[in-house]
Amino acid sequence: MLVSAAEMLNKAKEGKYAVGQFNINNLEWTKAILQTAQENNSPVILGVSEGAGKYMTGYTTIVGMVEGMIKEMGITVPVALHLDHGSYEHALKVIEAGFSSVMFDGSHYSIEENIEKTKEIIEIAHSKGISVEAEVGSIGGEEDGVVGGGEVADVNECKMIADLGVDMLAAGIGNIHGKYPENWAGLRFDVLEGISNATNPMPLVLHGGTGIPEDMIKKAISLGVSKINVNTECQLSFAAATRKYIEAGKDLEGKGFDPRKLLAPGFEAIKATVKEKMELFGSVNKA
Ligand SMILES: [Zn+2]
Repeated sequence: MLVSAAEMLNKAKEGKYAVGQFNINNLEWTKAILQTAQENNSPVILGVSEGAGKYMTGYTTIVGMVEGMIKEMGITVPVALHLDHGSYEHALKVIEAGFSSVMFDGSHYSIEENIEKTKEIIEIAHSKGISVEAEVGSIGGEEDGVVGGGEVADVNECKMIADLGVDMLAAGIGNIHGKYPENWAGLRFDVLEGISNATNPMPLVLHGGTGIPEDMIKKAISLGVSKINVNTECQLSFAAATRKYIEAGKDLEGKGFDPRKLLAPGFEAIKATVKEKMELFGSVNKA
């Protein structure tokens, strides 16, 4: 059964570790992440972007697939199914489809409008036991067509949004989506500390987890980050393993073209990446 992300994140905040949000794209991604979570006795959040939702033909397909896998694979660790960077319209869609958690990203609105819309989503989601993530200060990266230092959130605005009763808060602290540029200045721990003090005990979310050095991840967790989003890193490890298989000509040997064989190295690579992150975040044996 899918669960809201609230309880697992409150536990993580208290226990000073973080739960990984791993974005899914298809069956292999989902199966690899669920299997790794179970093997490591770790809670897990499956993230779905609007684009991935469309790719997988819609949100009800995803709910069916994930719920089916939890049952068929005998998954007993807590699993939340979460909309990543949802618009107002899509937040309502996933609530209807049966997701257990939703991010409403109103960071591109004025703070007043972000508050108004976040409030509405909270009311609807909470009436169904669904957790809500809100965002303050947009997170930079390729999504915006600009690769820069990453925006830094305003502490007072973070407090205003946290006080609405969201379950987790994403705030820009210099982090960005996708690969980090060579000249990246690093995370703004001074800002993170200020946000953490102002919003405690709210679990904080770190987006753009790919390529942040391990010591920075650990420091961020110690300062109140309880959820870390990982997306690009699984894509890179899947692609590298698949490339290796093809370049070695394995698809031309015997039945190496069978998708169950062709996609196996990428599948194992996702599992290895997820395991590594769960160990780094400290969520192993915290189910
Ligand atoms: Zn993000």
